[in-house]
Amino acid sequence: MAEYTKAQLTEMIIGKLQRNFGRTVEEATPNHMFKACALVLRDIMSRHQIETGNQVWEGQRRQVHYLSLEFLMGRSLEKNAYNLGLLNTLKETLEGLGFSAADLFEQEPDAGLGNGGLGRLAACYLDSMTTLEIPATGYSICYELGIFKQKIIDGKQVELADNWLGLGDAWLIPKLDETEEVRFGGKIEDRWDENGVNHPEHVGYTAVLAIPRDMEIAGYQTRHTNTLRLWDAKSPVPVDMSLYSRGEYLKAVEQQAMAEVIAKVLYPDDNHYEGKSLRLKQQYFFVSATVQSIVRKHRAQYGTLHNFHEKHVIQINDTHPTLVIPELMRILLDQEGYSWDEAWHIVTHTVCYTNHTVLAEALERWPQALIESLLPRVWQILKEIAHRYQGELERRYGSDQGKIAHMAIIWGGEVRMANLCVCACQYINGVSALHSDILKREVFHDAYLAAPGKFKNVTNGIDHRRWLSQINPKLDALIRDCSGGDEYLIHPEAIRKLENCKDDKSVLKQLEAIKGENKRRFAAYVARESGVILNTDAIFDVQVKRLHEYKRQLLNVLHIVYLYQQLRDNPNMDFTPQTFLFGAKAAPGYHVAKEIIQLINSLAAQISRDPVCKDKLQVVFLENYRVSLAEKLMPASELSEQISTAGKEASGTGNMKFMMNGALTIGTLDGANVEMHQQLGDENIFLFGLTAEQVNQRKREGYRSLDLYQRDHGLKRVIDQIAAGFDDHVSYSSITDRLLFGVGGSMADEYMLLADFSSYCQAHKRALEAYADRQRWNQMSLINIARSGLFAADRSISDYAREIWHVPVRK
Ligand SMILES: *Cc1c(COP(=O)(O)O)cnc(C)c1O
Repeated sequence: MAEYTKAQLTEMIIGKLQRNFGRTVEEATPNHMFKACALVLRDIMSRHQIETGNQVWEGQRRQVHYLSLEFLMGRSLEKNAYNLGLLNTLKETLEGLGFSAADLFEQEPDAGLGNGGLGRLAACYLDSMTTLEIPATGYSICYELGIFKQKIIDGKQVELADNWLGLGDAWLIPKLDETEEVRFGGKIEDRWDENGVNHPEHVGYTAVLAIPRDMEIAGYQTRHTNTLRLWDAKSPVPVDMSLYSRGEYLKAVEQQAMAEVIAKVLYPDDNHYEGKSLRLKQQYFFVSATVQSIVRKHRAQYGTLHNFHEKHVIQINDTHPTLVIPELMRILLDQEGYSWDEAWHIVTHTVCYTNHTVLAEALERWPQALIESLLPRVWQILKEIAHRYQGELERRYGSDQGKIAHMAIIWGGEVRMANLCVCACQYINGVSALHSDILKREVFHDAYLAAPGKFKNVTNGIDHRRWLSQINPKLDALIRDCSGGDEYLIHPEAIRKLENCKDDKSVLKQLEAIKGENKRRFAAYVARESGVILNTDAIFDVQVKRLHEYKRQLLNVLHIVYLYQQLRDNPNMDFTPQTFLFGAKAAPGYHVAKEIIQLINSLAAQISRDPVCKDKLQVVFLENYRVSLAEKLMPASELSEQISTAGKEASGTGNMKFMMNGALTIGTLDGANVEMHQQLGDENIFLFGLTAEQVNQRKREGYRSLDLYQRDHGLKRVIDQIAAGFDDHVSYSSITDRLLFGVGGSMADEYMLLADFSSYCQAHKRALEAYADRQRWNQMSLINIARSGLFAADRSISDYAREIWHVPVRK
């Protein structure tokens, strides 16, 4: 696929530097050079995209529209060069021009348009949809500020604005002629025509312009190219307002302010619903612009919307884009003049919903008064959808008010977005086998019984080209050696062939050497960035993910304090050196999560100044966990902490990144860990803790964490120490109170840390025993890598294509 030689790339880059920045190579800063490279690759992808667009048009192919309020893209230069087959040529070109390719890649800011797993999943799926040659478009908001940058000051998280567009916008192509208008507020007036048909008119509204800033997505070893369409918000009001009358002037200013703020910042809450009116504006803004854009292009091609559902599928990533349902209805009813039944048929054969969480606090419920005032026409349509559904439920369940109340779309003054999705979507899927079962058995049980065929599972996956081949080139080379080439890059299940080498001692030694090198490289990076010296002779035990109580970083802390106390009691004990690495952002308003970050930093400081721990025990909190940091860390990790309370983590994808890079998992039977265990067997994973069913049972029986605290002396000592704090004299009794007594209506130890504590400690012991026999460990590591093909996003996207989207994929 190397379409360009070094000489050609050199000329293209020099040309960009001259035309866009008026610089010679000698005058170019690294920033100039980064932008020039990005623009050169952007041109290539744009050319491919136009070809793809023409083929999709001519073939009248069904298209996928992936709507997500988050796309956690990370960096693109190295990735795009890799997919275009130009990575080596680009590196040589840059070295030839006197620049270090590695340094230049480091210049690029992460496009942090997401919080964590859900946003990163959307990014991985764009790669796979493109590589599998599916005509697909991603849609989101072009946030001016991505997920905040995290600084740790005096052990506490401080948030800084992430202004990524200065350099990051090199990838974006504004398409001003494809601007859409989105309308807020005002009111609806009925307009009856001579045939007695109502054409509701929206008056007194505030308009916001949605301007596409397109990012092209290159696939691997294909010219097929897709687009991520990021909507920017602008006011339609002209800048000079001096001539406006007083009333209009104020309205104009208000309009301008409202427009600009919509695309200002990503909401930094992960797995938590924020009922803010600005968030609702963001959702409708992006959904309305997207639907209008799809409809406009469809009408231009087919001249009718009657076949809309045959040519498009709209996948909604969690409930955040749910307003796509009434918005598409609105256009079909008000603009096309379709009957309710015609419109409803089209909508319900177009839209599909992926559920990402069963946590009650994450389920979106919008106050009806807010929707009514902000989106008056959408509100009318929602009321009608809810009313008809209510009738259906009453026919189905008669007087069973409990069921009806549970499934209603509008209830108690709130609009429940998940119930709307379940009512309107053609398919509903969970993101791991266990999670999809919980949806069917618990969350949407009655809807499942009424229409079992609508419920599917698609287990999440990750872009294995990025998360293995690109970030861990030595491991990539070893896999090629052992599996007869690079087949696994296109057919991820072929990575299984690595298992043929599981008894080859030299391969196992190489695997160990690669891990060692990756650890040292990561340690050198940490030393440069923060001055902290990691002990590379210790096992790297890693927990990186958003900070959330259900993810149980605190359980990890309990275990480390337990180890610390053992070491204090008996400084000469037999002790396997362990380095515990944490990385996690807490939502700025999530106080407990922030306290846990501070606790980790207190513990890290305590252990680092205690000579007893020297070369044995180390705890490090890595600042600002993000995609580009994960890419450095995964290849260096040895033990992967996936320890959520069973039943709470929908899938996890961090778990898959670790597995693919040869880390072993210590984990609960939660999310996709269940399927990892199925692949690996008991002997290649360290399982512990209650199952999801046992968690439910213990709660039904009346779980009492205080009893466990009083009964288990070691556990009591750990908790008492955390309550008292360390030498920095910060007490963490507010945290331990939650474990023992519960606070503000929540039960004591809601996430069952104490119930799983001893089982967790034992699993750690088993892990260290395995680590002591290095050959055995290396073999387990190899088996983990070899059996990770199932967790490639290519497999997930093939599942979506076959089961949900009904579109063909590249063979
Ligand atoms: C993969 C990834 C996540 C998701 O991690 P989980 O352990 O599945 O929660 C979060 N943040 C970043 C930066 C990631 O790359």
